[in-house]
Amino acid sequence: MSTMTRNNVTGYQMPTLLYPSNALEPVISRTTIEYHYGKHMQAYVDSLNRLSHGNEYEKMPLREIVERAPEGPLLNNAGQVLNHALYFEQFTPYPKANNRPEGTLLSAIKFDFGNFDTLRQRMEEACASLFGSGWVWLAQDERGKLDIMRCYNGDTPARHRKRALYGIDVWEHAYYLDYQNRRADHVKRLWEIIDWELVESRMDL
Ligand code: MN
Repeated sequence: MSTMTRNNVTGYQMPTLLYPSNALEPVISRTTIEYHYGKHMQAYVDSLNRLSHGNEYEKMPLREIVERAPEGPLLNNAGQVLNHALYFEQFTPYPKANNRPEGTLLSAIKFDFGNFDTLRQRMEEACASLFGSGWVWLAQDERGKLDIMRCYNGDTPARHRKRALYGIDVWEHAYYLDYQNRRADHVKRLWEIIDWELVESRMDL
């Protein structure tokens, strides 16, 4: 990911937020972005830098850490840094009610799911039935097939050699300030702010 860089002196840097913190309202509030990006993601970046300091992971690219690190705090934090970099990048600051994929991405969705509404329904069901904290990803495998992945805690598609196309963060910190316990309501509204061109650019075509 172009926005996730590591500086040899200070370690991994936060990716730049590409829109103002209130730009995703009313789907995601300014307050949620300020905590989620500014506090939660910052904490994952700080932990990653602390845990990789002075060892073999210090100068390793993030994706390589995610693929190679053993289970444990370093992997958890590296996975969350990657997940959140992908997450904050994938939204457009122009919410619209009938926001849908087009072109090559839509063709791939039709091939693997039948139609977009089926994909949407299956991702919503995966979010509703994920017990605890984690992520639901639209991912692409090495043969190009699209699939829905449920990842618990800090797990991420790259760990399983899959490409992450679009991810829904179902940790409570992603929605609790705006939607309280109504995870399903939050997930349904996210479709309004997905940057589908960006999602398509993540595909291996
Ligand atoms: Mn999160």
